[in-house]
Amino acid sequence: MTITDAGTDVVADVPKGLFIDGAWTDAASGRTFAVADPATGKVLCEIADAGPDDGRRALEAAVAAQEGWAATAPRARSEILRRAYEIILARTEELALLMTLEMGKPLDQARGEVAYAAEFFRWFSEEAVRIDGGYAPTPDGANRIVVMRQPVGPCLLITPWNFPLAMGTRKIGPAVAAGCTMVLKPAPQTPLSSLALAGILTEAGLPAGVLNVVTTTDAATVVEPLLRGGRVRKLSFTGSTAVGRILLAQCADTVVRTSMELGGNAPFIVFDDADLDVAVDGAMAAKMRNMGEACTAANRMFVHRSVADEFAARFAERMAGLTVGPGTEPGTDVGPLIDAAGRGKVEELVADAVRRDAKVLTGGTTPEGSGYFYPPTVLTDVARDSALMSTEIFGPVAAVTTFEDEDDVVRVANDTDWGLVGYVFTRDLDRAIRVSERLEVGMVGLNTGLVSNPAAPFGGVKQSGLGREGGRVGIEEFLEYKYLAVPVRAAK
Ligand code: ADP
Repeated sequence: MTITDAGTDVVADVPKGLFIDGAWTDAASGRTFAVADPATGKVLCEIADAGPDDGRRALEAAVAAQEGWAATAPRARSEILRRAYEIILARTEELALLMTLEMGKPLDQARGEVAYAAEFFRWFSEEAVRIDGGYAPTPDGANRIVVMRQPVGPCLLITPWNFPLAMGTRKIGPAVAAGCTMVLKPAPQTPLSSLALAGILTEAGLPAGVLNVVTTTDAATVVEPLLRGGRVRKLSFTGSTAVGRILLAQCADTVVRTSMELGGNAPFIVFDDADLDVAVDGAMAAKMRNMGEACTAANRMFVHRSVADEFAARFAERMAGLTVGPGTEPGTDVGPLIDAAGRGKVEELVADAVRRDAKVLTGGTTPEGSGYFYPPTVLTDVARDSALMSTEIFGPVAAVTTFEDEDDVVRVANDTDWGLVGYVFTRDLDRAIRVSERLEVGMVGLNTGLVSNPAAPFGGVKQSGLGREGGRVGIEEFLEYKYLAVPVRAAK
């Protein structure tokens, strides 16, 4: 595969401007910023670096388009999403390569994300025509209650770098289906997938102003005036809990509705009656998808003492067998981490655990050379007060600890401010249900390491967030209720 040439072509084909009111434009300041390949550190291209005026212009376009877009037939909105779904699938190779170049994940996983991302558009194309309301008599029989659903209004969508395409479609899909206009602000590390998406939606027939994309290195300065300006009706954010808190505070001032997909600290629990083949497969999926750079990644592994050695040995063997390298190379299982800061954090967490007597079964040493690579690492005997037990690792490092008792493991699993997902491995149905019910999380992987699905409600409890994306409730987040009180008088 001639990656350099193909990569150059793919990057060259992507627009580099801001997408405002259906047109590609430069930042008012003329400033640009570099997007780099984490596998090499080399600059792929320069793109527009928006300031507050550009953000305002994008929001004005969204506000101006809102009324007309809300009045568009649901079937028309549905078909735009359906066409975009088909275009994305037809361009799988190109989009996967683009994503691998800007984000680092292996091409196979990037192809998987393209399919996953497209699926949100298919799902919400089906939801667009199923927005319903209600009709009911009041209890005293004197009035009728008529309930309609309406788009919430112009939205601000802020996405992270770890799933550059899917985090965009997961927010754009329901917003388009519901009849909302929007400003999308992608992460500065991975803006190219979002820019490609804007091109695809335009090709699919999305009218000017409905989706506006603003790329910037100064998110705080661009976003705050938009949230405080009183015209954004909804913020949908995926990112860190720290930034989520800042944005919630800003939204409080103007009472903006929010959906928040924040961090996780997922427990991965293997009971003594688990099928260990299934548990090891689950651990590979839950830990290594996206090099561990996922909020759903297994962060704390709790394995029953009686099977811990066998589980750890088998898991470490699988981890050690993975091939680390540039995502563009065939056969790569583990690409680079996103940047120097991301890798530095992983190194520190491992060093801290080792200082507290964790054993390194495999990995644990940063390789020489360019790119932000880090090897698949399995640590055992991890002390429960190690920093990585209370910090989202966001890297290919598995921390294995042991437990003896169901009550104890549930208590420790819940002893965290986060509550996105938990994984439970057992063949005992009673225990499976019992533990799933007791875990303080929004999602449970039962004998599986993968929970994400566009047809399921994705989201967390506690400081992992507010609201759900995907599933039947996904579109609800972008709809308001309006109720009409209708008296029905007796015939004269
Ligand atoms: P990560 O640590 O994974 O990069 P962040 O929460 O910092 O996660 O980033 C997620 C998204 O939030 C990115 O698009 C980023 O640019 C944006 N972001 C970061 N800080 C702010 C802020 N103060 N206001 C608005 N958006 C922000």
